[in-house]
Order: sequence, then C-alpha cells, then structure tokens
Amino acid sequence: MRTIVCIKQVPSTNEVRLDPETKTIIRDGRQSVTNPFDTYAIEQAVQIKELLGGEVIGLSMGIPSTERLLRDAMSRGVDSSLLLSDRSFAGADTLATSYTLSLGVRSIGDFDLILCGKMAVDGDTAQIGPELAENLGIPHVTDVVELVEVSEEKILCKKATDKGHQILEVDLPALITVVKDINMPRLPSIPGIEFSLNAPFDIRNATDLNADTARIGLSGSPTQVVKTYIPERTRTAVELTGDTESQVKGIMKIIEEVI
Ligand SMILES: Cc1cc2nc3c(=O)[nH]c(=O)nc-3n(C[C@H](O)[C@H](O)[C@H](O)COP(=O)(O)OP(=O)(O)OC[C@H]3O[C@@H](n4cnc5c(N)ncnc54)[C@H](O)[C@@H]3O)c2cc1C
Repeated sequence: MRTIVCIKQVPSTNEVRLDPETKTIIRDGRQSVTNPFDTYAIEQAVQIKELLGGEVIGLSMGIPSTERLLRDAMSRGVDSSLLLSDRSFAGADTLATSYTLSLGVRSIGDFDLILCGKMAVDGDTAQIGPELAENLGIPHVTDVVELVEVSEEKILCKKATDKGHQILEVDLPALITVVKDINMPRLPSIPGIEFSLNAPFDIRNATDLNADTARIGLSGSPTQVVKTYIPERTRTAVELTGDTESQVKGIMKIIEEVI
C-alpha cells in the first residue's frame, strides 16, 4: 500500500499575520506548526502501513522551513517526504495550491491512497482535498471519522455528516480527508527521531515539476481577497465583589439591563 499524506505548515496560535498588500498569510516559518488535522492524517497513514505493509510519503507545498515539520512526521512513522518549494508558489489560493500538489503527487508516481486533514486552521477552506482529487481524477471522501475496512483494492469509510454518518465504499486509488475523532496521534519514538534526522527528503521547485506558470502562486490564483480586518472586541468583563447578597444583586441588575 503506497499512501501519500498531505501536510501543511500553519502559523501557531497568535502568530497569524496577514500581508496588507497581497492579503495573504505571511509565512516566515516563525513558531509554525503542523496543521493539527494533518497529525491525524499522518497517524492514519502509519496505521494503514502497520496493517497492510507498504510505505507512507509526506507531501507539502511550503517554505523551506517546512522541512522541520516533515522530519517530525518522519519521526512518527512516515518513511520519506517531498517538499514543493519555490518563490513562484507563494500567495496561492486553493486552485493553485491543489494544482501544485497534484504535480507533486504525479512526480511521486503510483499511489493507492492520499490522506489530507479535514481543513487547514489558517486558510480554513477545506477545499484542497477535494480539488486535489479532482486534479488527479480520483474519487474522494471528506470528513472521514473511521476507516471501517482497508484492503489493497478498496476502503470502507465512515463519513461524518450534519445528521449522523454515512458508510461509503471507495475503490482505490482515492483521497480522503480526516477529522480529529479518527484516531489518537502517537508521539515520536527515539528510533523514529533517529531515523528522521537522515530520512529520505526531497525538494522540488516549479521547474522540476514542469509547472504551468499561469496556474501557480499568486498570479495563478483567481481568488481576490479585497479586504481583511481584525474583528473589534465588543465583550467586556465586569467583576462583582462584596458578600454573596450584593453579588447576586449585581448579577440581577446586569440581567435586567440586558433583557
Ligand atoms: C484572508 C484570506 C482569505 C483567503 N480566502 C481564500 C478564498 O476565498 N479562496 C481560496 O481559494 N483561497 C483563499 N485563501 C488562500 C488559502 O488560505 C490558501 O490557498 C491555502 O494555502 C490553502 O487552502 P486552505 O488553507 O484553506 O487548506 P484546506 O483546504 O483547509 O486544507 C485541507 C487539507 O489540505 C492539505 N493542504 C492544504 N494546503 C496544503 C499545502 N500547502 N501543502 C500540503 N498539504 C496541504 C492538508 O492536508 C490540509 O489539512 C485565503 C487566504 C487568506 C489569508
């Protein structure tokens, strides 16, 4: 079983900063972390390898410092990684990102399954998985909460829906996006950390991928973000002091003012 897991670098909480000119996220690698949902995709890919054998390949489009996160994935059971990195990939919307990732997948060669997180916690669109599958011409299932059965030919997925669950059988090769209830990601092991230091790691740029320059980066992105702003905080905190009776009176006064 050859599984590719898509791993995105995201700014850690409180570090999301936007470029006022391009309205894109500033990605300088400072305090960045693996997109939380991707840690579940990594764990699932490794569990499939433990069940059926084969290999797991980490794939990311990002700045050079993303290598640190791919090596972290390799300390948790991923066998090798490919980073797609080029200045011309910067500012990509989901259309350009999924096109670039599809070139990365094609450059890897044959595969059985692609795993993505449900969504990235910075861009938040949840579009990359389905768009990548469309680019590759393979079926996809989003929001997978459980892999009920996995074989070399097909998978049986439990998909979370607004009203409950669906059980879907999908022929491989296919792509799934996973939610956080699917598993409990493991910690890196000491042998895993040792392996990750010199594990197979490759970087490819736009030329290596023979990318169509009209379809990558900011210029290949039809999305126009016209305005970004930080919402105003309108909530205030009131501290009630004194004995219990005066605090209760204070709460009643506030409730009367609100209703
Ligand atoms: C303010 C703002 C608004 C934006 N609005 C839009 C918009 O309206 N439309 C639009 O198309 N784009 C928009 N973007 C850009 C969008 O955030 C980027 O295209 C982003 O890199 C990819 O989308 P996402 O983060 O939503 O990924 P999601 O689709 O939420 O990610 C799902 C999964 O795909 C995989 N994945 C995603 N990105 C990568 C990657 N680089 N490498 C490897 N795997 C990856 C991961 O497994 C991830 O868990 C906006 C950006 C900003 C800053």
